[in-house]
Amino acid sequence: MFDSDFVSPISSLKRILPENSDVILDLKRDDLIHPFISGNKWRKLKYIIEDAKKTGKKALVTFGGAWSNHLLATACAGAVFNFKTFGIVRGEEEIQNPILSLCKLYGMEIFQVSRSTYRDKNQAREDFFNSYKNKTDALLQDDFYTIPEGGAHPLALKGCSEIIDELPHKYDHIFCACGTATTLSGLIIGVQNNHLETHTQLHGIPVLSGVDYLKEEIENRVPNAQYNWHPQYHFGGYAKTTEELMNFIQSFSSRTGILIEPIYTGKMMYGVLDLIKNAYFKPESKILLLHTGGLTGLLGKNV
Ligand SMILES: *Cc1c(COP(=O)(O)O)cnc(C)c1O
Repeated sequence: MFDSDFVSPISSLKRILPENSDVILDLKRDDLIHPFISGNKWRKLKYIIEDAKKTGKKALVTFGGAWSNHLLATACAGAVFNFKTFGIVRGEEEIQNPILSLCKLYGMEIFQVSRSTYRDKNQAREDFFNSYKNKTDALLQDDFYTIPEGGAHPLALKGCSEIIDELPHKYDHIFCACGTATTLSGLIIGVQNNHLETHTQLHGIPVLSGVDYLKEEIENRVPNAQYNWHPQYHFGGYAKTTEELMNFIQSFSSRTGILIEPIYTGKMMYGVLDLIKNAYFKPESKILLLHTGGLTGLLGKNV
């Protein structure tokens, strides 16, 4: 039904390299973990769910925007691991979209709050509990496990660090797309745990603009973090796309049979191929890209 110890395979991306390129380009397929408990969202949830089970919780409550991959992953994981799930969703008017429909199919109850309330997560959570506690079949406050927005929980780092443990050989460079950069922080820990600091360079490609504050957050999570930062591939900001990006994604997917989406993985892939074209890498470098999943992002964008 769902293999929580699934080791994601690695696909070669040789086919999309420029003809004269001699680098090795591989893709770790965390998109294949599950269609909806997808990619890095499962890596983050794995030990959170284990902790919720251990501490006897019955319900998961979390936060997200109406297109959040994390919200959907939590809804689906709740159904698989037998938790009731609640999603506190940003937005004034009642929102209907394919992501929230899927969340509801997996049994998640959606509680919408205004943008200003959403900014204050403690307030949003309190409003949720106040509206919920009058229900006759209400769970007690103690029965709830609260997961931060995007799954950015300390236990998420451990799950993400295991991506490095799974690698069959050493890579010179490893790339991932960054939203909160929790995944990148976990990869940095994985590289440290496996004593690969002198061999493997990590790279983050942020998908938002103006996110230098993320560097501070990475440093807070992992002191002396070593990584490279490529802030020039956000295409205007979070969830912003251009015709060039959509054409690139179409070309990539039609040539490889592997889907990527415009919010995260498309921007990362575009960035890496741009770096290759600009001779950023030494000859014969071994490069691994992390497919962080999230293909439902395609449901909100037309090619
Ligand atoms: C959420 C998400 C990310 C961002 O992960 P962070 O740990 O927040 O940086 C990257 N890729 C996909 C597909 C995602 O859904």
